[in-house]
Amino acid sequence: MLLDALVNLKAWLHTTLLGPLPLLERGVFQILDFLTGPITGVNTRMHWFQLLETLMLAAFVYFTGRHVVPKGGWRGFLAYCFPKAMYAHPSAKLDYKLAILNAGFGFLFNVTWRINTVVATAAFLAGLTWLFGPPAQLIEWTWPWLIGITFLVIVAEDLASYIFHYAEHKIPFLWAFHKVHHSAEVLTPITAMRTHPLEYALVGSWRAIFISAVLAPVLYLFTGPLSDLHILGIGAFVVIHGALGLQLQHSHIWLSFGPTIERFIYSPALHQIHHSQAPQHQDKNLGVTFAIWDWMFGTLYLPKGPEQLTFGVAGEARQPHASLLAAWFRPCWDAVPMRDKLVDVNARLFGNWVRELAVRFDLIAEPPTAPGSARPASQ
Ligand SMILES: [Zn+2]
Ligand SMILES: [Zn+2]
Repeated sequence: MLLDALVNLKAWLHTTLLGPLPLLERGVFQILDFLTGPITGVNTRMHWFQLLETLMLAAFVYFTGRHVVPKGGWRGFLAYCFPKAMYAHPSAKLDYKLAILNAGFGFLFNVTWRINTVVATAAFLAGLTWLFGPPAQLIEWTWPWLIGITFLVIVAEDLASYIFHYAEHKIPFLWAFHKVHHSAEVLTPITAMRTHPLEYALVGSWRAIFISAVLAPVLYLFTGPLSDLHILGIGAFVVIHGALGLQLQHSHIWLSFGPTIERFIYSPALHQIHHSQAPQHQDKNLGVTFAIWDWMFGTLYLPKGPEQLTFGVAGEARQPHASLLAAWFRPCWDAVPMRDKLVDVNARLFGNWVRELAVRFDLIAEPPTAPGSARPASQ
């Protein structure tokens, strides 16, 4: 019913206001999908069924967790799930702004993902045809194949995410953009969408290559169109990720599967540790669905029990992304190699206007200067 209302609203907007302005229409529709998506399940990772699974997992933690003291029945449960101080925190407010802007304008950046999937799949297919002749298309789709291929796509996508995430933590240029996600001081499910648009574009195109490596042989070998696996009419990805607590990864709700399972499957607790400022947690737990990559490559940190975590970027004197402007443009500045030299050369030759502009637009912090102290060191 909500979906019908959304479809009707879109049709009305198309025929009245937005039809002649296709780009604006696209942006408005993306924002509408984002805002209504948690309920309708349109074009968003927050499908209603996944939210239901998330609430069930949270209830399980609340009523059975040894580290939680349940108070006040279901009312207490709601207060536990949605603490006001967390959802009204300035960091959470920036999450909302970034998430809405990414939903609205992200397609401009995310186009690389679509192009890459098509181009990479076509290139892989051409390679297979060159090696083995025209597409064989011999295999009929059956349930075991469908389940196996869906699993393979999840594995390929997860490995791609792990490698990219690893690179983001090790390569300064990529870290400058990924840092926006890590500067969150509180975690709510919306924090998952707290990303710089460029990161959004890069990770999409990277994943596309891995997914295409599975899709191309499937298109080459199987008859009929590609199909994806559904459970109770809902995409298998949505149901499985929901059951594993994907939405709780960015939350204060500690849900650990225990060290045996967490060597293979990623839990919400593992990702919360990834956001921690503690030295022993730095660059650990980089996976999404399977912890096996972290285990194999030595980046797995297994908690022995619930840990007190402080979220944010370690070693920063103050929030580096205090405003939307800073969250969008500061990473671009931080990604410039030798930016300190640039500022110095500028200061020596033409006055200090690069530094002044950068400070004015919150791209670099104005270091506190003691009276009579020398020129502030560049950041
Ligand atoms: Zn990270
Ligand atoms: Zn995260």
